[in-house]
Amino acid sequence: MAKKLPEVDVVLVGLGWTGGILAKELTEAGVKVVALERGAMRSPQQDFTVPRIRDELRFSSRNDLTQNTQRDTLTIRNNVSQEALPMRRLGSFLPGEGLGGAGAHWNGVTWRWNDTEFKIRSRYEERYGKKYIPEDMTIQDWGITYAELEPYYKNSNARRAFPAGPAICAGRSSPAVIRSKVRAPATTRCRR
Ligand SMILES: Cc1cc2nc3c(=O)[nH]c(=O)nc-3n(C[C@H](O)[C@H](O)[C@H](O)COP(=O)(O)OP(=O)(O)OC[C@H]3O[C@@H](n4cnc5c(N)ncnc54)[C@H](O)[C@@H]3O)c2cc1C
Repeated sequence: MAKKLPEVDVVLVGLGWTGGILAKELTEAGVKVVALERGAMRSPQQDFTVPRIRDELRFSSRNDLTQNTQRDTLTIRNNVSQEALPMRRLGSFLPGEGLGGAGAHWNGVTWRWNDTEFKIRSRYEERYGKKYIPEDMTIQDWGITYAELEPYYKNSNARRAFPAGPAICAGRSSPAVIRSKVRAPATTRCRR
């Protein structure tokens, strides 16, 4: 028989990055929150200590931190005339599973977009002319600007305990911020 649990203000489905940040913000504001997570519970002592965390076969080859595609998966089709079929083998898109979601195995790189990237269509048109982008190409500017987003970048970095301020990445000056304890991949290594 179904068990009736005490009522709460908010129920989050999934406790990855988005759910985790929302849970923190909401509970700090005094809202009662329950999160439903489809994957396993995790704790730093149990799950992120050596030697367990060095198990390459388990994590890299067998994708132990990602969605189990034998149990439940995404479907994919290349065009609308095809039947969507389950994607049993994960590729570069690795949906997270378990407490922390994909945030439990991300690379820790927290790039900020620069102003130009929000105005990609306008910038191409300014430089190469209106006809440069083919008519059937749907590329467009974002509905927000860097200036509008900046306070949220700052807030997000503070919430996630990233150091604030610019870092120098891959030989060019960039307003990217990188988590101090995590090594970035060689191509995007940053120094502060
Ligand atoms: C290998 C890798 C490296 C990455 N590196 C970076 C990086 O360096 N910088 C960066 O900015 N981003 C990076 N990302 C991307 C980043 O991790 C994701 O964008 C981010 O985690 C997405 O957050 P989310 O809350 O949307 O989803 P997730 O963090 O995946 O959380 C979703 C959660 O919901 C749960 N869930 C799903 N469906 C249900 C359901 N029906 N019921 C209950 N629970 C459910 C899942 O189990 C999961 O825990 C990386 C991703 C991967 C895979």
